Amino acid sequence: MTPPPPAGPPTLLVPDRVWDAVADAPHDGWVVLVRGERIEAVGPRGQVSAPADAVTITLPGTTLLPGLVEGHSHLLLHPYNETPWDDQVLHESEALRVARAVNHARATLMAGFTTVRDLGTEGAGYADVGLKQAINQGIIPGPRMQVVTRAIVVTGQYAPKNFAAEYMDDIPQGAEEANGPEGFTRVVRDQIKHGADWIKIYADYRWGPNGETMPGPTQEEFNAAVSVAKSSGRSVAAHATTAEGMRRAVLAGVATIEHGDNGTPEVFKLMAERGVCYVPTVSVGGRNKATVLKYALDAGVMICNGADSGPLAHGDNAKEVEGLVTNGLTPLQALRAATVNDAKMLHWEDRIGAVKPGLFADLVAVKGDPTKDIMALSSVDFVMKGGTVYKKP
Ligand SMILES: [Zn+2]
Repeated sequence: MTPPPPAGPPTLLVPDRVWDAVADAPHDGWVVLVRGERIEAVGPRGQVSAPADAVTITLPGTTLLPGLVEGHSHLLLHPYNETPWDDQVLHESEALRVARAVNHARATLMAGFTTVRDLGTEGAGYADVGLKQAINQGIIPGPRMQVVTRAIVVTGQYAPKNFAAEYMDDIPQGAEEANGPEGFTRVVRDQIKHGADWIKIYADYRWGPNGETMPGPTQEEFNAAVSVAKSSGRSVAAHATTAEGMRRAVLAGVATIEHGDNGTPEVFKLMAERGVCYVPTVSVGGRNKATVLKYALDAGVMICNGADSGPLAHGDNAKEVEGLVTNGLTPLQALRAATVNDAKMLHWEDRIGAVKPGLFADLVAVKGDPTKDIMALSSVDFVMKGGTVYKKP
């Protein structure tokens, strides 16, 4: 089902330096040899012996680094200042949304993001599954994908809402409704049947009597969903902005917390104890991201990169990594979030996230040195995914 690896001669990439995500500092004068879809060798130019037929690509003035990971995308959404979310869900057909998503996938790849975890189609059914297949079969350019399909909410929790009460039963929702431990069990398995790699649950949402953000699933519902997902080998991501939503999700055994705007030091400590990753999505949501990021760092929680792209324009994904630095991470911590940490989160550390022999040749070159100035990530000169060059200097 995957396209054959690129045939032809090996490629020798010659940047000014390589940041391999293994060591902290970039290696001046290193080169990378790529054969087929994999990295064959990495090291100082004199020590990597390129075969006589190797094609050399010089990348002057650049740092070569692992392909970046977008850990929280919605390829089926576009920014709400273009079209409000309700109108995207209710007025844009699935065909229209998929056509846009093809462009979004290309823009993401060209921005240097060679892998995404797509966290919900928001009303576009299982279209993420087909999109992933089209990319894997080489039909369209795009990042590697892990997908969740429709995501899960409890009845009444989500949106679109505020229609006449007598019509509410017929208003399509942005995620699939489930109720009770048995209901959650059924919906998790049904989404797996339709192609979900991950399960996403909305731990809370703005559905209190006065529009306050309140928890959605009960602890019992969460527990059932996570245990069913885990027994199939899949991880669960929880959208959560309240401390109570986060707490329920973590106690149930989710792998990641998305947003976490109102997390407390106690809840981040619980996350650290249970090995739960934090995806702060600083590009969207609350003003206190710097505060909660500090709680998370102080507690020793692994920080992962995910922009909530969709609301953030696809192709602008690097703004999140830059935003992590604005909110208190060092450039190195932010780069690790978008490479090795995300790779671990996806359980793909044996495939992506570092420049090491044997991993996929997912590589990007940026002008300058992003370990010194994170803004370098917004000038991507070169993109390779699985040994195929998508962007040339
Ligand atoms: Zn999201």
